[in-house]
Order: sequence, then structure tokens, then C-alpha cells
Amino acid sequence: MSHLIFAANWKMNNGPSGAVAFLRTFLSHYPRQYDRTMIFFPSAVAVTTVAEEVKDRPDIEVGVQNIYWEDKGAFTGELSAAMARESGASYALIGHSERRHVFGETEEETALKCAAAQRGGLTPILCVGETLGEREAGEAERVVARQLRTGLSKIPAGTTVVVAYEPVWAIGTGRNATPEDASRMHAHIRANLRQLTGEKGAGVPVLYGGSVSAGNVAELLAASYVDGVLVGGASLQPSTWSAIARTTVEEPQAAPDLIEES
Ligand code: PEP
Repeated sequence: MSHLIFAANWKMNNGPSGAVAFLRTFLSHYPRQYDRTMIFFPSAVAVTTVAEEVKDRPDIEVGVQNIYWEDKGAFTGELSAAMARESGASYALIGHSERRHVFGETEEETALKCAAAQRGGLTPILCVGETLGEREAGEAERVVARQLRTGLSKIPAGTTVVVAYEPVWAIGTGRNATPEDASRMHAHIRANLRQLTGEKGAGVPVLYGGSVSAGNVAELLAASYVDGVLVGGASLQPSTWSAIARTTVEEPQAAPDLIEES
């Protein structure tokens, strides 16, 4: 079993005081872990606070939910990778479903943001995933392959990245992908990563996100090629998040072969 990643996307919840209240409760029930890394994605105004609260925990990192692709300048309301880094972030979510579908972020923009994250010293977590319509039309694999290819097109070879498969129809809906569906798509993503980045693609963690809960996390993590989870709603309560993050994972059963496809 690879080193697991448990990522908590708080979206537009928890300012600095809410973040402190959450972490004081959560950390008292969550001792240091050695086989997994946790990443909190608080609102931008709470990044410094969260980084300060977890500074003695090497197993816990902090990230930002979004960045802009320019490094500085007259871009009112935006946040650069270097500013996020200076505030204590090490990761940036790029192309989250809500950025694409609520704010109209394009695939080309995700590529620019991945490149900006790399320049600014952040590890990009590129989120990909199909809509329900695309899945029903049999387009899911093709859409995800295109999102990966475009999103990673502007970063230098060898850049450290993480990928999150988040089917749009599963985010915040209570309807998660089955472990079999997740496994199939993660195998497809891994095969595409190999094509795009060579052997390094084998080491890119691929997370699953979309209605993960304390009840379904174990079977999703046991699915082959799933290296961790990205969780929204269920990361907002310390007790639920602690239950999810402490899940024991069994070795996946016979992983299907990777089929090179795009
Ligand atoms: C997310 O926001 O990345 C997410 C997966 O949300 P939820 O867990 O609420 O579906």
C-alpha cells in the first residue's frame, strides 16, 4: 500500500476562528500518523492560522483552494502561488469542479495555474472529472484524458504533481462512484500519466473525491490505484474527519493491468 493522502477541502467554510476551533478538537483526537499525510485546504484567509496550528505535525500539510496564474500585479482579489507559499501552503487545488463549473475556469487556465503553482513552490493537485452527461454519453475516459493532458501541458518534466479524480456528479451529491468505477478510472488516469510523464507517472498519487463519507471510505481506499481521498462536506466535523482519516486500508485485491489508452 502506498503512502496515503487524506485531503480536506473546506470550501467557503471556517474563517480563522472556526479553523482554530476545529483543529484544537481534531488534533487532540488525531495523533501523528506515519503511513499517511493529511492536507487541509482552508479558505485563503485561514491558511496562516492553520499552518501555525499544525506546525509541530510533520504529517499534516496546508494548501490553498485556488491560485491565479500570474505571479504578481494588478489582479484585484487574486492570490499568487508565492503568496500562498509564504503564508504556509505547500499545495494548491487546481481545476476543482466548482472552479470549472461555477466560475467557468477553462482547461487552458488549469494549465496556466499548474505552471504557476510549480513556479511558486506549490505542488499542484489537478482535479479532473466528467459530468453526468459526459458519463452517460460514454465520454468519461476521453474527457478525463483531455483534462489531464491539457492541465499538465505547461509544467516542466519532473514536476511533482498530484491528481484528484472527482466526477462532477459525485461532488456534494451523496452519490459516490463505486469502488469498481473509481478503480477503472484511476487505472485509466495512471496509464495516461505514464504516457504523459513517463515512468514518473507511476509515482503520481491519484486521489478519489466525491461524496466520500465515514461509511464508504474504506472500500474506496481498498480499490486498486486509489492513493487517497479528497473530501469536502465530510471534512467539516472533527469527529467525522478523524474517523475518515484513521481508516485502516486493506491491500487491494489483484489490480487490473494498466491498459495504455487515451
Ligand atoms: C470536494 O469538494 O472536493 C468534494 C469531493 O466534496 P464532497 O466530499 O462534499 O463531495
